[in-house]
Amino acid sequence: MGLSQRITTLTGGGSDGWDVFLKARRMIADGTPVTELTIGEHDIRTAAPILQDMHRAALGGHTGYAMVPGTDALRDTVAHRTAERTGVPTTRDNVLITPGGQSALFAAHAAACDPGDVALYLDPYYATYPGTIRGVSAVPLAVQTRAEDAFQPRAADIDAVAEGARSLLINSPNNPTGTVYSRATLEGIAEICQRHDLWLISDEVYDTQVWEGAHLSPRALPGLSARTLVVGSMSKSHAMTGSRCGWVIGPAEVIAHLITFATHTTYGVPGFIQDASVFALSQGPDFEAEIAAPFLRRRALAQAVLAAQNTVGLIPAQGAMYLMLDIRATGMSGDAFANALLDTHQIAVMPGESFGAAAAGHVRVAMTVEDAAFEAALRTLCDFAETCASQ
Ligand code: PMP
Repeated sequence: MGLSQRITTLTGGGSDGWDVFLKARRMIADGTPVTELTIGEHDIRTAAPILQDMHRAALGGHTGYAMVPGTDALRDTVAHRTAERTGVPTTRDNVLITPGGQSALFAAHAAACDPGDVALYLDPYYATYPGTIRGVSAVPLAVQTRAEDAFQPRAADIDAVAEGARSLLINSPNNPTGTVYSRATLEGIAEICQRHDLWLISDEVYDTQVWEGAHLSPRALPGLSARTLVVGSMSKSHAMTGSRCGWVIGPAEVIAHLITFATHTTYGVPGFIQDASVFALSQGPDFEAEIAAPFLRRRALAQAVLAAQNTVGLIPAQGAMYLMLDIRATGMSGDAFANALLDTHQIAVMPGESFGAAAAGHVRVAMTVEDAAFEAALRTLCDFAETCASQ
């Protein structure tokens, strides 16, 4: 029995970018200690009071099927928080709760794209993006951003391929680059979406991790709320990656269709997770800043380490939990460098190539181990790069 094209070609035929990560996990399973700077997961776990609230909700009986669109309480909380942060009027009818941001990305593309439609996204990109687009039988088309622009997209580059496309997926603060899109960048994107009649899918899962400038949701730009689907999540802002709780925010008529879609795909998110999410969101911005603080601290440590050498270049991270390091001076690809660093020093970083051609010759470092180990690993990485460059 043959399987569908959709499922057998999801990664586009090549590697899906997780090879170094999987190799590191195998080394760890075999007993080799590895400093893991690969995936975007906090080194802290979900805070105890959130878990206590989850426990309370589960013991209280919220373990049956929950409302498919999300509980009223969580939809209201997300709507209120969004309206407060962006100034855009938002009610529960604009919110669908999903099992994480990943599911929200899938749902948003399912809403925007028919099979065969071109769905644009920006390179470098979060590794699941092209597969998510293929998952709805749309055709992913990457628009390159450039290291020399610190990976701010150029409107002209998007414009050049926008004719006939159906959607554009953006991500600010960005994984993997740490770039926060400027108002000018977002206004350029907004103009293109309006002129070419594109859905804008705005992945804002890192919106509480901004180190320079401010987060601007493009849904707040004039005329954009009718064509923008915002993807959000509890994962990064509240260290709740394993709870699988996220959302899509968009026009009420889109959300109504997405509720039907959710009924036939996920059938919702567990009620006790949603209750704990309401509790977590009610802790407010100070709690969110506390969760984000280690990344800001480690970013400063990294800046100091990198300032003391001149082989590895640092793309200034304006947000999110990652650093993009330019290792082109070594003459190696990001892939070769990441593999060699893992083999010789048991430090795992992601090859830039895992995130697209625009990040070739770079590696992405997740700032997700405690400060002293993080700083030591970065020093080793820089020394290793220097050795490679001088060979
Ligand atoms: N978008 C981006 C840019 C991400 O980095 C991630 C997770 N690493 C997600 C979406 C999905 O996160 P989750 O499903 O945990 O909400």
